[in-house]
Amino acid sequence: MTPLATTDTPLAEVLDDDLATRITTAFGHETVGELLHTLPRRYRQHGQRYDRRELVDGERVTIVGEVLSSSTREISSRTSKRRGELTTLTVEDGGTTFKVVFFYSRGIKFVLPVGTVAMFDGNVSWYGRSLQLKHPEFLVLRPVSGARGELRGSGNLAALARLSAELTAEGGPSLFDRPLLPIYPTKQGVTSWELLGAVVTVLRALVPVVDPLDPTVRAAAGLMDLDDALRKAHLPDTVAEKDAAGYRLRFDEAISLQILLGARRRFAARDPGPACPPVASGVRAELEARLPFTLTTGQREVLADITADLATDEPMNRLLQGEVGSGKTVVALLAMLQVVDTGRQCVLLAPTEVLATQHHRSLVAMLGDLGAAGRLGAAEQATRVVLLTGSMSTAARREALLDIVTGEAGIVVGTHAVIQDSVDFFDLGLVVVDEQHRFGVRQRDRLRGKGRDGLVPHLLVMTATPIPRTIAMTVFGDLEVSELAELPGGRRPISTSVVPARDKPRWLQRAWERVREEVEAGHRAYIVCSRIDADTGDEADAGPDDGVDLDGRPPLVAAVDLHAQLAAGPLAGLRVGLMHGRLPPEEKDAAMADFAAGELDVLVATTVIEVGVDVPEATVMVVMDADRFGVSQLHQLRGRVGRGGLPGLCLLVTTAPEGGRAMERLRAVAATTDGFALARLDLEQRREGDVLGDAQSGALSALRLLSVVDDGELIEIARRHAEEILDEDPGLDAHPALAERVARLAGDESSDYLFRS
Ligand code: ADP
Ligand code: MG
Repeated sequence: MTPLATTDTPLAEVLDDDLATRITTAFGHETVGELLHTLPRRYRQHGQRYDRRELVDGERVTIVGEVLSSSTREISSRTSKRRGELTTLTVEDGGTTFKVVFFYSRGIKFVLPVGTVAMFDGNVSWYGRSLQLKHPEFLVLRPVSGARGELRGSGNLAALARLSAELTAEGGPSLFDRPLLPIYPTKQGVTSWELLGAVVTVLRALVPVVDPLDPTVRAAAGLMDLDDALRKAHLPDTVAEKDAAGYRLRFDEAISLQILLGARRRFAARDPGPACPPVASGVRAELEARLPFTLTTGQREVLADITADLATDEPMNRLLQGEVGSGKTVVALLAMLQVVDTGRQCVLLAPTEVLATQHHRSLVAMLGDLGAAGRLGAAEQATRVVLLTGSMSTAARREALLDIVTGEAGIVVGTHAVIQDSVDFFDLGLVVVDEQHRFGVRQRDRLRGKGRDGLVPHLLVMTATPIPRTIAMTVFGDLEVSELAELPGGRRPISTSVVPARDKPRWLQRAWERVREEVEAGHRAYIVCSRIDADTGDEADAGPDDGVDLDGRPPLVAAVDLHAQLAAGPLAGLRVGLMHGRLPPEEKDAAMADFAAGELDVLVATTVIEVGVDVPEATVMVVMDADRFGVSQLHQLRGRVGRGGLPGLCLLVTTAPEGGRAMERLRAVAATTDGFALARLDLEQRREGDVLGDAQSGALSALRLLSVVDDGELIEIARRHAEEILDEDPGLDAHPALAERVARLAGDESSDYLFRS
């Protein structure tokens, strides 16, 4: 019998050394509690039928069934000179037949002969009309003889065998006879069944867990007791039990996070910001009077909110969302000028150097003599716009820094990295962050300290990738959200088509003809590749075998190669340029400038052009291997065309097979230009961690179970309870268990403001 354990007990004290070590290596779990917070990926119900439509390529499945037939033949690989056996089994589960295939695995036919009942875990793929599992992990549940022999299958099964024997000796149900069989995520060779064994072992040792939530909160929110929830989440008897348990565990994460955010908000609200009320005859008023267009209603409304925010001494925290081309930049510029008019400075942060350079250029152009302070012909109230990037010469950089520290520069444009680390401002009043929804609390904290006399600068974050409300609330906690819904006059919607390059090679040819037609009509084209050259990280699905490639996808198109091919072939005679991240900054800038000036007709590039680049004459965007890009990335990319009142065309070229997930995603992108719909789709397809990135300052990445996409309602409820708890007990003195959880969530983040009233 294992010793008693709490959630803090190291796994090594409860589990076999080998198993504990492998779980720690694969998943990073050190303690019982961490293991228990890895919930099953799903639960398999006995005889449950499969919906064949849901079994899309790449879907991870675990099947339990009998081997109905088995065939083995010799194979060899031309490339690797490997020889061995190819064994194909048919296995039936819930009325669906799967082909289970093993390459070069000599002897499999003896481990899994016809009649064996086994569990298989792997990625499903469609091969013609049949479903395949290639090289699944497997566990023999009932060997052919019918006798209970030793456990056979993938993984180190010693611990599992021992546990099995124990359970049987106690007369309890066997490990795998459960109404809902938990299927765990597998990683680095730790199989689903090894994790199940580990979880069962741990739960048998676990003393009842103390609930950090008061019974009143539990009752009000309809929550299961924590100890129950931990057990039922892994070993439920009914679907309802499993759901209630999962809800409880997600609620715990939500409330800890909301308490953390609430505490941070309360702390931040104590520091004032610089009040910058509008000045009657300042630069802002002057530029507004001179604008070559009238602001849209949306722009005026957003601007009114921002104007009011900036006028108070409460630091603004505002997120401005708007489709690509909706005119966020001019709104930001007017906001910055309001601050400049009060004698303070602004900084505009861009995610890349190319973008910073372009912003600088267009701000200078828009301001004209209003931005020419210190030069001949400058307007009376003029300010100065300064660019600061990592690749500037030392002399230029020194001059820029001098302008910034003396306050000569009213507006500073640059990349995050450069400005956050090394710049002292004379009097920073407003930070504008462009196209960067990953700008999170940590980055914000870093800029807080850059204001004068301890004042916290106002913050405006702009993004073309809309963030659903719950996420904005979760990530930023206290961010106000503004939206620009309409596109300024004359802007035409972009039409998007998917080009299946493998199945319909003729279409790809047609795509190049379209590019040529556009160029001949006086327009320009972007062609985007997912990688620079053939040597750089090819992530194409590497099958388990190099000789028998069942997927047969061609390698990814590289920008350098495509540039050469197009210039010599389909686009011969056109001026085709090349731009990618490994070029020196001057060459990148030059390529971009040539394209903008019309010296180049076509620009073959990597995603360095992704955000914000503005060339009104560009009308076509061809994205190669479009399935390699995320949904919002594609949306951003196509926003680069159709900006000059000309209709835009975006062609998503892919070799992804018809009917698969990737293709489905591309078709969805082609079908809508609604950024919100796409943002949702994007989030559904990725893990939040990827989406939110470092916006979370560590805290969100510690959330294992909560989904900011699906748990919106739960998050709102948890937020209400969190506020109540903080109102009554700001120091969490009466909630030690909760305080501990929140502190753990905060991690290494400065906990200064946590619970110090
Ligand atoms: P984004 O929201 O993508 O940053 P921009 O601010 O770059 O959009 O605006 C795209 C283009 O639309 C720019 O050339 C800008 O000058 C122009 N623009 C902005 N507002 C208006 C408006 N109200 N009417 C006409 N053109 C506008
Ligand atoms: Mg922009």
